[in-house]
Amino acid sequence: MENKNVNLLWESVMVDLMPMISTVSFQVWFSSVKPLKVYNNKLVLSVKLHSNKKQLDNTYRDMIVKCIRKNSDYIDDFIVVLEDEEQLPEELTAAAAAEPAPAADTESSGSTHFKASFTFDNFVVGDSNQLVYAAAKTVAEDPGKRYNPLFIYGGVGLGKTHIMHAIGNYLLSARPGLKVRYAAAETFTNDYIESIRTNKDSGLNKQFRDKYRNVDVLMLDDIQFIAGKGGTQDALFHTFNYLVENEKQIVFSSDRHPSLLNNVEDRLISRFASGITVDISPPGLEMRIAIIQRKAFGRRFHISRDCVYYLAEKIDTNVRELEGALNKVAFFCEMNKVAADSVDVIREALRDEIEEGGRALNYEDIIAACAAYFGVKSDDITGSRRSKQIVSARQMAIYLIYDILGLPLAEIGTYIGGRDHTTIGYARDKIDKMRRDDPIVERQIQDIRAKLGKA
Ligand code: ADP
Ligand code: MG
Repeated sequence: MENKNVNLLWESVMVDLMPMISTVSFQVWFSSVKPLKVYNNKLVLSVKLHSNKKQLDNTYRDMIVKCIRKNSDYIDDFIVVLEDEEQLPEELTAAAAAEPAPAADTESSGSTHFKASFTFDNFVVGDSNQLVYAAAKTVAEDPGKRYNPLFIYGGVGLGKTHIMHAIGNYLLSARPGLKVRYAAAETFTNDYIESIRTNKDSGLNKQFRDKYRNVDVLMLDDIQFIAGKGGTQDALFHTFNYLVENEKQIVFSSDRHPSLLNNVEDRLISRFASGITVDISPPGLEMRIAIIQRKAFGRRFHISRDCVYYLAEKIDTNVRELEGALNKVAFFCEMNKVAADSVDVIREALRDEIEEGGRALNYEDIIAACAAYFGVKSDDITGSRRSKQIVSARQMAIYLIYDILGLPLAEIGTYIGGRDHTTIGYARDKIDKMRRDDPIVERQIQDIRAKLGKA
């Protein structure tokens, strides 16, 4: 279904591109390009050769973007991947994490490195997130004074990154003189490693100190990522103390409550919980309806009431999936020139998502199925224990999430306890090989897939 639409779009783009490019160049650079899918409002194209990727990325970028925009209201950019690229490109994972562009990340006051659409105004507030909203608003209005640190926790796709960017956007316009820094915990970790690598004396170098201490507000996203990283934790501990002593605001986000962070030093955990700790839970039905309405309105996409209800009932996991589903419906309607005015249209548009009589399968279902199969708990899979059963269950979950949902490795890593993409790629490859060599493993895969209704 999706493929049909993607092909349709790419065909129209090619038709528009053809007269803009010489026949020879067109033949050389465009004849083997394959449209793959749509990801975060970007068309993903695949090519075989690196030189081909370079041409599309550089020489033809503007033309392609122009033609894509001409043919779609919804897709406004593209990404080129290599056909045999083991891993999805950084752009994809970065987009998924909705992080600011890395270059802008080093900017301080006056820069706009926050995603423009992630504002307080665009944040739909309901029972599941009103505490977070209120706390974030307070912090934005009065940084460093009331709640320090603000620690936000909750599952993926529930708005943690959005609310942090909202604080940033708010401060940039309300108090442009303030230095506000947002970074993924992974960036903080990488910067720390770079800092000790390049520093001649022991300790942190100036660049690192400036970046993380010379600020009025520091926001670190997905802090669970620092689990098991002793040096980074030490650097964070000192950064924390320095900032709080100087009445600078700190905001953290995490996928779980501070007390459940494994392999994080106690002294840090007690710091995390020393201000205010608020959680975001998955939205209830009414809120899901409100979110769909708001997002549809925002992009001027007309969708009937019935369709909104249907979507809200079927997609009950998180806001990101809800948004993804709405995007797919909008794209489907645009490509097939139909209106979103009947439930059948939604069913057709989301055929891959919405199972017969059920909701879409998500990564949590796969983790739960693998945990049950290997007799461990879901928390074990995302945790750090390494007994034989747990490791088998974890690797299988990684493999199946990749195989069934086709998510980028880095994204899977965030679901499996904040592991990095190389670990995830290793586990996936291992099961992939075992599956071919060992009939028992093949059997396990079949069994679990059957339980998930994906035989
Ligand atoms: P997290 O960081 O918790 O994984 P994000 O902040 O990236 O989640 O949110 C995922 C997507 O859902 C984003 O596009 C975000 O704008 C949207 N979103 C989440 N919560 C809300 C909300 N309450 N209102 C509007 N959009 C939301
Ligand atoms: Mg996030």
